[in-house]
Order: sequence, then C-alpha cells, then structure tokens
Amino acid sequence: MKLAESECKKIMKKYGIPTTKEFLAKKPEEAVRFAKKIGYPVVLKIDSEDIVHKTETKTVMINIKNDKEVLEAFETTIKNAKRHKPRAKINGVIVQEHVEGYETIVGGKIDPQFGPVILFGAGGIFTEVLKDTSIRICPIEKEDAEEMINEIKYSKILKGFRGEPPAKMKEIINILLGASKMMMKENIKEMDINPLIVSHKEAKAVDVRIIK
Ligand code: ADP
Ligand code: MG
Repeated sequence: MKLAESECKKIMKKYGIPTTKEFLAKKPEEAVRFAKKIGYPVVLKIDSEDIVHKTETKTVMINIKNDKEVLEAFETTIKNAKRHKPRAKINGVIVQEHVEGYETIVGGKIDPQFGPVILFGAGGIFTEVLKDTSIRICPIEKEDAEEMINEIKYSKILKGFRGEPPAKMKEIINILLGASKMMMKENIKEMDINPLIVSHKEAKAVDVRIIK
C-alpha cells in the first residue's frame, strides 16, 4: 500500500528526519495565502495518490516567485494532472518552501536475502542515469553512514567543490541513522526520499514515497 505524502512526512518526523515546510491548498487563493506564510520562492506540486511521477506529468512547478505565478501554477498543475489521468483523485496542491542545495537520495527496501537495507546516493531526476549509490544492511552505525557517504563519487561535490561551502555531513549521517531505524521498526517494504536536499545550512526531505 502506498502512503499519502502527509503520512510519509509524519513518519519522517518520528525518526528525526527534517522535512519541508508545506501546506495543502484546495483553492488558488488559499495557495497564495500559504505561499506568503512560507515566504517566496515556493514550489507547487500536485497531491494525489494516483500520480507517482510529478516531473514527467508536469505537476510540479519550482521557484515560484510571486502571487501571480502561484495562481498560474495552481491551475497548470491541476490541468496537467487531469490531462494525465482524468479520474485521478486529487487532494489539492501542496505549497512548499523552495530548498536550495545538492540533491541526494536515501532509499530503503527489503532484500530477500539480507532483510532491510538502506541506500544513499546522488539524487534528483537523474538518479537512475547516474547510478552513483552505496548500500548497507540495516541497522547501521555512525561509521557505516560515513562510509556510505564517502563511497559515492558525488560526495566530492557534497564536501565542497570550487569554493562552494560543504554540505552538513553531520545532518546527512543523522538522517541515514534515522532511516535505518525506520526500516527496522516500521514494517516498510520500500522507501524513497528523493530528493533529500542538502547544503551548508540544512538537509531536508523534499519528496518522500513509502510503500508498506
Ligand atoms: P517527482 O520525483 O515526482 O518528479 P519531486 O517532488 O521530487 O517530484 O520534484 C521533482 C524535482 O523538482 C526534484 O528532484 C527537485 O529537483 C525539484 N524540487 C521539488 N521540490 C522542490 C523544493 N521544495 N525545493 C527545491 N527543488 C524542488
Ligand atoms: Mg522525487
């Protein structure tokens, strides 16, 4: 069973994994109100169990800078969702803070041989293309989390490249430890945080999918 986005984020919080500030808007004017509350720029995305891939269906709009753009994005996301799946159950449109940083992925699944395993890697929409990931059997310790980060090529960029400040490694380690605990305790078949956006300021789960 696929869990709704709001349910997934509740589980994240339980294991100390920070998530984006966000609200579910049912009406365009409500979306504008939420955007102001969060502060620009914001991201609008469809909230529907029936739509899995938001980029492909053009139901996620990032870097929205003002009220007018919110109103337009609200209409467009709903229109594109309906075009993709006319009978899709649409809960509304999520208004979310726009997070700056590097995109990583944290995943979990049940391996038929080893049981719960956890994955870390280069994330975002190019995850499948780059295949830059590391995997461990759960539960993991701090040292395992450090190794997982160091193993991927992308870690060279995460640690600061060409004068960019390094991403908060401590945050990533804590999130990997939290995700490992989650896999041990929550009876999860499959879990994906993609992206987990990390920077020198913060690390935040932006898009979460859990199958129980
Ligand atoms: P999906 O994986 O279903 O296509 P996502 O919610 O992961 O949808 O959004 C797709 C991409 O849009 C992300 O990989 C990221 O690059 C960007 N994005 C989504 N939400 C945010 C956000 N809150 N802040 C910054 N970028 C975002
Ligand atoms: Mg995603």
